[in-house]
Amino acid sequence: MHYDVAIIGGGPSGAVAAAILAKAGFSTLLLERNFDNVKPCGGAIPLGLIEEFNIPAELVEKKLSRMKARSPKGRVIAMNMPNGYVGMVRREKFDRYLRVEAERAGAVVAEGLATSITPEGDGFLLKTLNDKVAPFHARRIIGADGANSKTADALHFPANELKVIAMQQRFKYTPSIEKFSNMVEIWFDGEVSPDFYGWIFPKADHLAIGTGTEDNKHNIKALQKRFVEKIGITDKPYLDEAAKIPMKPRKSFTQEKAILVGDAAGLVTPANGEGIFFAMRSGKLGALAMIEHLKNGAPLHNYEKEFRKLYAPIFFGLEVLQAAYYRNDRLRESFVAICADDDVQRITFDSYLYKKMIPASWPVQMKIFGKNIYHLIKGS
Ligand SMILES: Cc1cc2nc3c(=O)[nH]c(=O)nc-3n(C[C@H](O)[C@H](O)[C@H](O)COP(=O)(O)OP(=O)(O)OC[C@H]3O[C@@H](n4cnc5c(N)ncnc54)[C@H](O)[C@@H]3O)c2cc1C
Repeated sequence: MHYDVAIIGGGPSGAVAAAILAKAGFSTLLLERNFDNVKPCGGAIPLGLIEEFNIPAELVEKKLSRMKARSPKGRVIAMNMPNGYVGMVRREKFDRYLRVEAERAGAVVAEGLATSITPEGDGFLLKTLNDKVAPFHARRIIGADGANSKTADALHFPANELKVIAMQQRFKYTPSIEKFSNMVEIWFDGEVSPDFYGWIFPKADHLAIGTGTEDNKHNIKALQKRFVEKIGITDKPYLDEAAKIPMKPRKSFTQEKAILVGDAAGLVTPANGEGIFFAMRSGKLGALAMIEHLKNGAPLHNYEKEFRKLYAPIFFGLEVLQAAYYRNDRLRESFVAICADDDVQRITFDSYLYKKMIPASWPVQMKIFGKNIYHLIKGS
């Protein structure tokens, strides 16, 4: 077989790219190693994503506009999102839906693990494990195969630098767990995560509790166990899941004939570990650049340029925030104290919901700056 574009990985980034390319009339293969894959993920997505990608209401199990941030000393700040909500999806349903959409748009969606990608003619020869999908040729490749991208390795992209390991457990609702069912909770606490945070995300029929830490530095299972104990949950989880989160864009994620999107490119924001929005957005931008490339010969690098122009300030801002506040409990205590400020909450949620950084007025900036200094000195 011969395709214009082969997309390796049928998660959100790959499925979105496949739908756009197929709709534009290009012969497109979306290759997913396992249709029953359950991606370990909190499944929290912003309203802006739900609107932009027309996510059907039945996939959004909860719409949560209330949130709690908890400090190491147990100080709890209640926060409200008056202009929107965090949507909770379940990845096994969400990813399947996106793949069906890609198929509806005209993409061939096939199950098979890509094992080899080698240059051939004006493109690549691809092979799958045990020839589950017969070897095929693709003029162009989109690597959407996650944090441990085979595509990136095979095509010698620069390394995926900073990886966090994250673990999550699912608990069925019981009378003692029911009380967590209507609010997102974020724990900034060195005992739960020395360099990231812990989360409590309610879904329709279960509670997801998870934490993350820089890969190879700490024992993620021990952190997770402590987190669940600190929350006071004694029930047993019915599912444990863990995976890496690449929280730094690769030095380059485009080549002459191939691009990487989503986690494969390292497009997860520091500080909050948000990746679904950036996966889908990069899938979309990558596919649009691919269309221009195939139709008019435009360089694929335009995709990376556009992505960085739109989102580099957000990645930078969150990297600074993580470096400044996630280093020890004293700093985390200050961070949570600052979250009590209404303007800080408004700016945070506005930029989270639609990924637009709208600068605050000078008086507000000065006030927030002053509070930062005050809490950093005071340590609370
Ligand atoms: C524990 C945890 C919690 C998270 N919580 C959130 C959250 O609440 N909100 C948020 O926005 N982000 C969250 N993230 C990050 C988010 O899950 C990822 O950023 C997002 O899934 C990236 O999408 P993707 O399509 O790029 O990659 P993936 O979702 O990883 O999809 C890659 C796909 O490629 C397939 N694949 C891999 N190798 C091959 C191969 N060789 N051949 C064929 N197919 C292959 C895989 O089976 C998979 O389906 C979390 C991550 C973790 C680990």
